[in-house]
Amino acid sequence: MTATIGQCGVKKETDSHLFFYFCTFLFLFFSLSRITRYDVATMCGIIGYVGTRPAQPILLQGLRRMEYRGYDSAGMAIFDSQGVFVQKHQGNVQKLASSLPSTPMEGRCGIAHTRWATHGIPNDVNAHPHTDCHEQIFCVHNGVIENHTKLRIALMKRGHQFRSDTDSEVLSHLIEEAWRREQSLEDAVAYALKQVKGTYAVVISARDKKDFLIAARQGSPLLFGVCEDHSLVIASDLSAIADETRDIIILEDQEMLIGTQDAWSIRTLTGEKKDRTTQRLLTDLTTVQKNGHPHFMIKEITESSDLLRMSIAREKSTQEIHARVEAQKYRWLHTTRFIAVGCGGMFYNALIASQGFEAIAGIPSKAITGSSFRYDSLIVDEQTTVLFLSQSGETADTIAALRKAKGQGAYTIGITNVMGSTIAREADETFLIAMGPEISVASTKAMFGTIHVLSELIHAVASLRGKNHPEILNALEQIPDQLAEIVAKRKEIADLTKKYLTCSHALVMGRGYEEAAAKEGALKLMEIAYLPAQAFHSGELKHGPLALISDQTFALFSIPKDDVYEKNLSNIEEVKTRQGKVIVLTTKETEEAQGIADDMMIIPKTISLLQPILSMCALQLFAYAFAMHKGYPIDQPRHLAKSVTVE
Ligand code: GLU
Repeated sequence: MTATIGQCGVKKETDSHLFFYFCTFLFLFFSLSRITRYDVATMCGIIGYVGTRPAQPILLQGLRRMEYRGYDSAGMAIFDSQGVFVQKHQGNVQKLASSLPSTPMEGRCGIAHTRWATHGIPNDVNAHPHTDCHEQIFCVHNGVIENHTKLRIALMKRGHQFRSDTDSEVLSHLIEEAWRREQSLEDAVAYALKQVKGTYAVVISARDKKDFLIAARQGSPLLFGVCEDHSLVIASDLSAIADETRDIIILEDQEMLIGTQDAWSIRTLTGEKKDRTTQRLLTDLTTVQKNGHPHFMIKEITESSDLLRMSIAREKSTQEIHARVEAQKYRWLHTTRFIAVGCGGMFYNALIASQGFEAIAGIPSKAITGSSFRYDSLIVDEQTTVLFLSQSGETADTIAALRKAKGQGAYTIGITNVMGSTIAREADETFLIAMGPEISVASTKAMFGTIHVLSELIHAVASLRGKNHPEILNALEQIPDQLAEIVAKRKEIADLTKKYLTCSHALVMGRGYEEAAAKEGALKLMEIAYLPAQAFHSGELKHGPLALISDQTFALFSIPKDDVYEKNLSNIEEVKTRQGKVIVLTTKETEEAQGIADDMMIIPKTISLLQPILSMCALQLFAYAFAMHKGYPIDQPRHLAKSVTVE
């Protein structure tokens, strides 16, 4: 059988611990000061309501629930028979609330926004909603319109007048223009959105279209709930809807919701009608945070493509990393040794970092676990740069290693997912990944986010040292879609795992950067599927692991179609000759691989440095499916915990 890709998950605390952890994470993540582009991404919240009750209190409550997503400005537009009432301010939701009438307005339709500015400073004018020249169209937007400058210039040439500095405002003008030609507002919105590049979740209404909302998304989260009285609440976040209803639908990219007081429909931007039914959510808070997924692990894998898209799309990302590397030019140019440190999965990312820094930036490099670094006798001095990788930023061994390295005079760099964490505070330089809270004990999306930041850092340091590698940035742009492609095929992966459930042991193999991916695959099989699994460089097979091949074993090879592909095929032959079961994870369905694989998973191809993001995702999905079939408590694997704050 040939499938195409895979999935996985984990965790251990009780629900109350989980919730505490989640809240603590949110506090650290969102309430501390912003650092660089790698902080909170475009995490604003949008909400819309159309129905039979006054919109104002529902929108306000939704904004309050989503305020953690962004808090520099807030705004609201309420539509009623008198026209449109708009209030928007720099500042938090409470400031907006104070400016609203104490007796809610009559309007039963409205949109609202809490902003985390990406384009245009946080001020009253740049706050959403944004409107067109004639104040007909009103729009709230989450995301980044990458081609906004080009669109704005063209619109201005055609006579449009802009009020704000935001990228978002182009949407209202594009719709205004399209509505002059198109018969319906929904066709006008579809036409306008097709001109946009970047990410968006939008809710749109118009002065002359009473009790009518349109919502659409591309790369930014958006869902809606249908209330008992048929009212609709549309929001970026489940928390903003959960007070009103448990019956929800998550919009897909390129889908548009058209909603009125008592009806709704979904179509694509190209006009294809979509039949969707609501799904009923469980009520407990931890489940709500899973956004309808059975486990945090699969939720976090699933959302990783959107999060990476937003992170990679942020205009100044590359420039900012370059600027920070440039500011430390002396340290980087005098680095004679690079060491990458991590624990668990982050050690595998350290392996990728060390290979990348050596092969691409030309610096002699090694990777080591935090626990080894702190006690081994390593040569570390002022000319050593040490990179510390930790999702939580609180991994005890990694922190101890960081302090030791600093004590020896090294230049220290952290990459973490948690702003304000110990590693973020203590490293000389910290780069934050923008992957949002990770609740699953088995790290997934943070692994991908770390490789993304790593690759940009390698690119910047290599450039500083006179080695240009534009292919890294070009390949990065494709990664979110490629990840989404893998996630979309998780059912095929799940079906594939069924054949191997009786096996009692797995070998996971890879070469080069794929050795790290293989290690991650084996770790996930152990962590959540409790399957004894070992990872090796494919070339090591005949030096021992072959002895384990039996009808109780399967060997999973991660072999992208690269320049060591044939070598890997020879290794697979060695297993097949001994009647071993082989699953091949690769990027192209070749006749040679088909001839020797029992099963294949085909994933997209990218450059070697980034390929582990895609391989790891497939291997995580494979382990997740394996654990699901076994009925294990994926989010609560035995004996494990999320943030390893003890040695
Ligand atoms: N790019 C838009 C702005 O800067 C939306 C940002 C957001 O998602 O909060 O206004």
